[in-house]
Amino acid sequence: MAKKTTTRSAAKLIPVTLIPGDGIGPEVFDATLTVLEAVGAPFTYDWQKAGMAGLKEAGDPLPKATLDSIRKSRLGLKGPLATPVGGGFRSSNVRLREEFQLFANLRPARTLVPGGRYENIDLVLVRENLEGLYVGFEHYIPIGDDAHAVAIASGVNTRAGGRRICEFTFEYAVKNNRKKVTLVHKANVLKALTGLFLETGREVAKEYEGRVACDERIIDACCMQLVMNPYQFDVIVTTNLFGDILSDLNAGLVGGLGMAPAGNIGKDAAIFEAVHGSAPDIAGKGIANPLALMLSAAMMLDHVGHQDKAKRLREAIDGTLLKDKVRTGDLGGRANTKQFTQAIVKRLG
Ligand code: NAD
Repeated sequence: MAKKTTTRSAAKLIPVTLIPGDGIGPEVFDATLTVLEAVGAPFTYDWQKAGMAGLKEAGDPLPKATLDSIRKSRLGLKGPLATPVGGGFRSSNVRLREEFQLFANLRPARTLVPGGRYENIDLVLVRENLEGLYVGFEHYIPIGDDAHAVAIASGVNTRAGGRRICEFTFEYAVKNNRKKVTLVHKANVLKALTGLFLETGREVAKEYEGRVACDERIIDACCMQLVMNPYQFDVIVTTNLFGDILSDLNAGLVGGLGMAPAGNIGKDAAIFEAVHGSAPDIAGKGIANPLALMLSAAMMLDHVGHQDKAKRLREAIDGTLLKDKVRTGDLGGRANTKQFTQAIVKRLG
């Protein structure tokens, strides 16, 4: 059942729907709420379920109570939700994004631990979240006794959707003092589907001329260039599927999925989550790296206007990793999730 908790007793608390999710979700959630408490985050929580946990408890991977809670709070912090591959129920992540029209998926990738493949990476990826090939218009055509002889998927991109995501990106660039936006597409082959995105992106870029530079890359070349020389990129905006793939690539540039945060942002609601999944291989072992969700929580603090607290949290994380040299196993350290969290809490005083 849903439980309600509050981090502060002061007035002006901001309601947040919490969905711990599956696998390592509850472990990294515990850790994240501990550091939010330590930084004095002004949130009041409504706990809900989704994914396998929702299916088990309410018979639905996205129960009505969870949707109702987000309809009220308009703000969510979410753990990873497991989705069956190739069949079974539709991704609850995709359904949540559609339900609340969370059209922008903001995924920063910043080097936190030196000594990796690259130093000082500071990239931002903006992924269109509602259109493209993820609209789920898919079906099989049976031939003879083969029910799956042919598979067909249709993608949908709209001019309005392209304009919305590109305007969001250029506005983000202006507000965050970013210099360049790269439009990533495959308009040489998918001439209509991603050609429309490119056409719209170019129109929006013109409106920001002189303030934010703009260039273009074809997705395959972009992947190669990100690996060869990531420093040539600043902010990248792209369609849904390409964005999904590029965000994991960017996470790899800064040391892996354990450190990649994300915000799903719409006009009226926002849900923050780690990029990584439920990591069933390490679930329950208490060794997961909670940084990605903690950094997502810092993005949530920024989003609600508590940049000071977000900054303190990021500084405490940097201090723990760089000065105290306390790190989880995936970062070459020996700390488990709890020890790592306590080290951050100590830094927060
Ligand atoms: P995954 O991200 O769960 O795991 C990939 C690898 O990274 C694993 O080896 C895992 O141990 C490691 N890893 C991930 N997060 C880590 C962390 N915080 N600390 C240390 N190591 C970490 O990807 P997957 O195995 O492809 O997916 C597992 C499940 O998660 C699937 O059901 C998938 O649908 C789901 N998923 C959900 C989301 C989401 O809810 N946003 C995102 C991706 C995958």
